[in-house]
Amino acid sequence: MELDTLYQEVILDHYKHPLNKGLSGTYDVQVHHINPSCGDEITLNLTVRESKIQSITWDGVGCSISQASVSIVSDLLLDKSLDEAGAITEQFIELMHSKGTKEGDPLVLEDAVAMAGVSKFPARIKCALLGWMAYRDAADRIKQSQDSVDERGGSQ
Ligand code: ZN
Repeated sequence: MELDTLYQEVILDHYKHPLNKGLSGTYDVQVHHINPSCGDEITLNLTVRESKIQSITWDGVGCSISQASVSIVSDLLLDKSLDEAGAITEQFIELMHSKGTKEGDPLVLEDAVAMAGVSKFPARIKCALLGWMAYRDAADRIKQSQDSVDERGGSQ
């Protein structure tokens, strides 16, 4: 697999110096996701306050792409609203399904555009998506718990 050298450096830098790695003691939701085809595994803790992402911490093992990707997610989505983070996640998923035809918007995806080349390698796409899928799962669970509060007549 060959990626652009600069992008390779971004990925390796996140892999060697991961951001927000180490699970926080307190969190709203914890999810555990695995990618059996590669042996990647991550646990992600998400805390949301007033619909803004207050913290994403994680721990995991696996290939450099999966671990770099969750490091990028944990930094990029911090302080974003759930809606903003959802839109960014959708853009990244679209990029991964582009088969190498898209470069990604660096203003939105920041370091995650370094993963663009991965979309040419179907076997590795799940590695790059692992952290994003874990985030989306955690965010969905938070939204569901908020909805059930609303249904019981809680504050809007
Ligand atoms: Zn992997």
